[in-house]
Amino acid sequence: MQIFTKTNNLIKYLESISEKQIGFVPTMGALHNGHLSLIQKCVKENDISIVSIFVNPTQFLEGEDFEKYPKKIEADKKICSLAGVDILFLPTADEIYFEDETNILAPKIKGYILEGYKRPGHFNGVLQVVLKLLNITKADNAYFGKKDAQQLYLIKKMVKELFLRTNIIECDIVREESGLALSSRNAYLEQSEKKDALLLSASLKKATQIVSKGEKDASKIKEEMLKTLKTIKVEYIEITDREFNKIATIQPGNTRILVAAYVGLTRLIDNIEV
Ligand code: AMP
Repeated sequence: MQIFTKTNNLIKYLESISEKQIGFVPTMGALHNGHLSLIQKCVKENDISIVSIFVNPTQFLEGEDFEKYPKKIEADKKICSLAGVDILFLPTADEIYFEDETNILAPKIKGYILEGYKRPGHFNGVLQVVLKLLNITKADNAYFGKKDAQQLYLIKKMVKELFLRTNIIECDIVREESGLALSSRNAYLEQSEKKDALLLSASLKKATQIVSKGEKDASKIKEEMLKTLKTIKVEYIEITDREFNKIATIQPGNTRILVAAYVGLTRLIDNIEV
C-alpha cells in the first residue's frame, strides 16, 4: 500500500497509471466495520483502490466536535493494508484548501432539511470536499454508506448536476449485532450510554414492524417511535420518500425513516428504508 500526503504527488502518480479502473472510499478515519465494508467492495470491484482519511474542517460547524474527532491513524493504516487497499491518501487541510476559495453550495432546499437544518452549512462542506476528492482521484467508482443517507443523496445529486463521471455506489448500513449502526462517533459513548444508543435502531425496527402489519400513517408511526425514544433527546424523526420529500403516507419501496437523537452529549443518526 502506498501512502500519499501531497495532493500533487497523488495526481501525478494516478496520471502515470491511466487505463486502470479506480475505486475510491472517502472517510474521516477511526475506521470500523462499516468503513471496511465499503473498502472491501471497492477493492473487489476495481483495479486500483484508494481510501482517503481526512477530517474535513469545512463540514463541521462552530462548536461541533472537529477538534476532538476520534483519530486512530496507525490502526487505520493496518486495516487498509490488510484489506488490500492500493493507495491511502492522508492530506492535511492545506493540501486540500486554498485561500479565498471558489465554493460549492448545497441545494437550498434538500441541503437545509433534516441534517442540513440542524447543521446549517454542513453539506456545503461535505460537497466541497467530495467534489475535490473526486477530481483528485478521478475515481470511476466511489463508495458511500446509506448510514449518511442525506449526504449520499446530495452527493448523487451533485454528481448528476455537475456532470461528473464517477459512479456513486450506495452501500448498506453495517450494524452491531445489537442493531446499533456503526459510527466513529460511537467511541464517544460511555458504557452506561450504550443502552440508550440502541434505542435509535430499536425505534426504526419497531417502525418497520408496524409498517409490515399494514400501518401507512406516518404520524402514527412517528408516535410509536417516540415512545421507544422517550428516554433520550430526539432531534427529529422524519418519514420521507427516497428523494427526501416529506410524506404523510408510507409508500412501500420508496420510503425512508430517519432519526437523529442525543445520547448524553453524543449526537447519533440512523435511518432505514421501507
Ligand atoms: P465517515 O468516516 O463517517 O465520514 O464515513 C465514511 C463513509 O463510511 C461514509 O460514506 C459513511 O456513510 C460510511 N459509513 C459510516 N458508517 C457506516 C456504517 N455503519 N455502515 C455503512 N457505511 C458507513
